[in-house]
Amino acid sequence: MPNRRRLNCYVTLSWQSQRRTLQFYLLLILVGGLATARAEFTIAVSGQSRCVILQNAGAAATDQTAARELAEYLQKITGATFAITEVTNVSKVPKNAIIVGPGPLAAKVFPEVALDKFGPEEFVMRTKGHRLLLAGGKPRGTLYAVDHFLAEQCGVRWWTPWATNIPPQATLHLPDLDRHEQPAFEYREPFWFPAFDPLWKVRNGANGENRRIPPELGGSVIYKGFVHTSYSLVPPEKYFATHPEWYSLIDGKRTHDSAQLCLSNPELRDFVVERVKEWLRESPEATIVSVSQNDCFGACQCPNCRAIDEAEGSPSGSMIAFVNYIAEKIAPEFPNVAVDTLAYQYTRKPPKTLRPRANVIVRLCSIECNFRAPLDDASNAKFLADLQDWSKICHRLYVWDYVTDFSNYLIPHPNWFALGPNLRLFQRYGGQGVFEEGAYQSNGAEMSELRSWLLAQLLWNPQQDDRALIQEFLDGYYGQAAAKPIRRYLDLMQDASQGYYLACYTHPHAPFLAFKVLADAERCWQEAEKAAANDSEKLPRVQTGHLAVQLAFLRDWDELRKECAEQKATWPMPESSKTLADQFAAVCQNIPGSNGPKGVVLSEAGLTADKFLQQFAQPRP
Ligand SMILES: [Zn+2]
Repeated sequence: MPNRRRLNCYVTLSWQSQRRTLQFYLLLILVGGLATARAEFTIAVSGQSRCVILQNAGAAATDQTAARELAEYLQKITGATFAITEVTNVSKVPKNAIIVGPGPLAAKVFPEVALDKFGPEEFVMRTKGHRLLLAGGKPRGTLYAVDHFLAEQCGVRWWTPWATNIPPQATLHLPDLDRHEQPAFEYREPFWFPAFDPLWKVRNGANGENRRIPPELGGSVIYKGFVHTSYSLVPPEKYFATHPEWYSLIDGKRTHDSAQLCLSNPELRDFVVERVKEWLRESPEATIVSVSQNDCFGACQCPNCRAIDEAEGSPSGSMIAFVNYIAEKIAPEFPNVAVDTLAYQYTRKPPKTLRPRANVIVRLCSIECNFRAPLDDASNAKFLADLQDWSKICHRLYVWDYVTDFSNYLIPHPNWFALGPNLRLFQRYGGQGVFEEGAYQSNGAEMSELRSWLLAQLLWNPQQDDRALIQEFLDGYYGQAAAKPIRRYLDLMQDASQGYYLACYTHPHAPFLAFKVLADAERCWQEAEKAAANDSEKLPRVQTGHLAVQLAFLRDWDELRKECAEQKATWPMPESSKTLADQFAAVCQNIPGSNGPKGVVLSEAGLTADKFLQQFAQPRP
């Protein structure tokens, strides 16, 4: 995002200089009233408000929230108080007003903006004369108009649920505005622990359902049964005994052990249709229902399933045939619900001739990929081919991307510079939703605050400069002095992992985890801690970031000591692993937004920092 504070400053100066230069003013009038074309809007002068916030009487709950959000933040920014006036009679709309939300007020002053035709998250930010319109489609467009206005025009940043930047500006003028925008993807989920706060999600443009966004904030995209639903729909403990033929035939035997459903069985298909209808009747708020394979292999090998898969050149054949059947049968009763399924592991390759119905969402999963490089890198050629092929046949294509190291959430994982290119790639191939699976079990994961914020910005608009966003976050969240060595850490890891196939379960002997690289990384973080030493707010943030490198040292202590000795290098850590472990535990106690080492989860399998640190309880040689 551009530096709006500087822009505001420029506009203010230019306006004042125009006022001072009478001849210039006269000239403008002489050449045809050009002065009126520069209609500036003033929000506050020297801590005094110069405008009112107007809202239609009986405005929707989300639009009321938007007006309150605007008043609250304008007060924090300028120090002035902003009244929200409910208007019943639109024949006299006051000047110097911000109109929030669609309705009679907007229709009267901005009749050229067809707000009734706006999509649910589309918004406009527009000045005319001495009025500003912040409004959008229902339910959340208006709230987005306000939050984008606060971010882009006033410089507010919601880095994390616990860290917000509000630049004070006692005098606040606006340039002419005429912005009309909507998000690049309809479903936007940065699935990271720091990104779960509903209010933070709304302010940063995410709309996934993990911790649902309440109705007064516009709600979430709601799934019924999120993923891997085969056995929730057809529980083997209930049905295997009477209907073994509904489950996978593997090596000549029906089984439900690490297996799937027999997708071609006609009776099973009709049973699942009824189960899905039951689910949707129970959850009328859901707009997507997941009918998806279990999180394992074990596809059915019966002659009927195999015939479809062989004809279609992929086990996605029997899957899409099955899901299409369910989707067709539920459509009359649930015309606004889509059936979501996975293109995951053995079903990642699309079928040759079958086409997902219009009410089917395919979620393509990148789990096997090299995350150090963008997904259109040569090392990811097979995935790219599948993305291209699905994009040709899907009405609604979503992507499930993997953006952390699931075996060790805290270990350095240099994928930062691939996140932007990947989202641009998904957009280019018509992706309409993206689930970015990160470290979702606690705060404290490596650079999790950065990835949460960065992904939210890019999910809204992937065409933004991702490297500039990274720099902006580092400067804002850690402070400019600490940001410099932290940026060096990112670049160092990026360079050290060049050419390495970075899976989402990293090999312990990855080149960027060698002693020399980690020692340099340690020096970056020590420098960052020094730079933040006198800032009680920012120091715990830097110390939390530092945990990643400390964890790498703790985990591979003996090996790294050996490497250090062989290289006759200086050991950058305490002499005793117990001392380092104690320092690590102390920082865990103080992780912003967290609750001590018991609460810090190190891996998807659930290893806690507390448990991990037990091995260092006694001093070791
Ligand atoms: Zn079968």
